[in-house]
Amino acid sequence: MENMAVGVFASIDAGLGVKLEVVRDLGIKTIQLHTPAKESRTPENAKAFLAKLKDYDITTTVVFLGFEGESYATIAKAAETVGFVPAATRAARLQESREIADFAKLLGVDAIGSHIGFVPHDSSSTEYKEMVAAIQEYCDYLKGNGQRLHLETGQEKAENLLAFLKDVGRDNIFINFDPANLILYGMDHPIDALKQVAPYVRSCHCKDALPTTGTPGVDWGQEVPFGQGQVDAKLFIKTLKEIGYTGPLTIEREIPEEPERQKAEIGQALELIESIKASL
Ligand code: MG
Repeated sequence: MENMAVGVFASIDAGLGVKLEVVRDLGIKTIQLHTPAKESRTPENAKAFLAKLKDYDITTTVVFLGFEGESYATIAKAAETVGFVPAATRAARLQESREIADFAKLLGVDAIGSHIGFVPHDSSSTEYKEMVAAIQEYCDYLKGNGQRLHLETGQEKAENLLAFLKDVGRDNIFINFDPANLILYGMDHPIDALKQVAPYVRSCHCKDALPTTGTPGVDWGQEVPFGQGQVDAKLFIKTLKEIGYTGPLTIEREIPEEPERQKAEIGQALELIESIKASL
């Protein structure tokens, strides 16, 4: 794979990402895959999907976890429902995460991405310790599969994320850096945060956003096409290069309800990224 190959967030079935045919049409060669629904995660489907990927000359770099019952309707709702935070579903979601990892292994994918949920800020709390234990357990399972865990950024400031990674203390835990999320959640300055967590960044999302006009951390900012928000696309890619990042640049534009617009905006992001890469 070429250095900083362009990628896109994609789905096999009805998911948040674009369909594989769109990826092919745009001439993009790498994807991150939003986890397929449980009934789709069969060895037969893995085989059929792999054949399609081969046919289209596309490589899957990360499989992203996603669970029933997660809601991003508001920041408060996300904090309540996303990832491994809700105690009531934690064990079941961990079990499903192992199954997803096994499906990813069938696809030959060695990285699992995850919004693990809002890490509790009080590191002496029971909730924090339970999160650390859950992620340790999952990392150990992935290790057995020869896989890594890439935590999606957004819900934590860089310093809190670094402290959490240290407390988990596993050598197969890394970061999927999403600069837009830091703006959407009103958490941190994306480029400053990128520099802070640099050694851990193994994958990323090319996504952009504008900060909220309401209360940061309470009201969502607004997701916009890459290059049109406050990430500073050029500085982001330049900084990735400076920190020695060579992984894919995966475009994330989650507007599945508007497929035509989604395809057009991903195409524009692709052109922008290629032109920035050429200028560095
Ligand atoms: Mg993202």
